[in-house]
Amino acid sequence: MTILLFHCLFRNEAEVDLKLVYPQQNMTVARLTETLQYYLDNGFIPVSPSDILKGLSSRGKHLLITFDDGYYSSKLSLPVLKQFKIPAVFFVSLNHMYQNKSFWWDVLWRERIKRGASVRSISHELNRLKCLTNEEIDRFLENEFGEAALKPVSDVDRPFTVVEFQDLAKQEGVLIGNHTFDHVILTNYPSSVGRKQIKRSQEEIERLTGIAPLVISYPNGNYTADILRFARESGLKMGITTTYVKNRLPIEPEKMMYLGRFMPVADGLLRNQLDLFRSDIAVTRLHAVFRFWAKRGKLTQ
Ligand SMILES: [Zn+2]
Repeated sequence: MTILLFHCLFRNEAEVDLKLVYPQQNMTVARLTETLQYYLDNGFIPVSPSDILKGLSSRGKHLLITFDDGYYSSKLSLPVLKQFKIPAVFFVSLNHMYQNKSFWWDVLWRERIKRGASVRSISHELNRLKCLTNEEIDRFLENEFGEAALKPVSDVDRPFTVVEFQDLAKQEGVLIGNHTFDHVILTNYPSSVGRKQIKRSQEEIERLTGIAPLVISYPNGNYTADILRFARESGLKMGITTTYVKNRLPIEPEKMMYLGRFMPVADGLLRNQLDLFRSDIAVTRLHAVFRFWAKRGKLTQ
């Protein structure tokens, strides 16, 4: 069973060129369509988390689509998902939505690009900042660029509003998932904070949509044994990481809380990546290939 990760979406290449968000995927609606078509052409059956929890046949090939963070522009996927009858999970960090706050990696990217920094140096800085708490990152960004820099600048980089989010949650085939309340990288905090972040996200999503999430995507893919336990105690039945592996069927019960996931990058190598994700190549080799991409500044979270 293959899980794919997407974030924001661009309407077209011209929108990519505006450089308003960190280019971790550069995924346009057309490239998303191409990706989904590729899996359907190769006999994959789109599934929802409920299908996975019920148990999938070991004979079939299955695909779960996920969008992280709660970018408004991820909504551009809906007509395509509807056209192909593909369900999807949208993992949101609600406090970004409540505060209409940019994601910090996009702020860093936008402001550094404006000042002529290279992609490589921004990627290095971004990786250094990932070791800090959100509070420390915000303070750094405010000192460096001013408070106004933390506000979104377009429909590409902004989070959903509450009303838009509630509308999204009502769409057929859409499931809302937990991505912590503030998009915290859980391993950068004491366990007690992680527990509160997961629990608050569960409660707020249930308050806004009427349904408590079944699935969590750990920000940056980071988790610990304690986090897995807190997630289970908060009622979550499935957890998704950013480890580049396919999930072998049947999925063992404990593995359900840390499933692997791939993030396609919409460059000239998109088709090669999709071939690689499908192949049974050893995980270590797969990681070597992605380290190569990461070095080119293409990969982040
Ligand atoms: Zn995220």
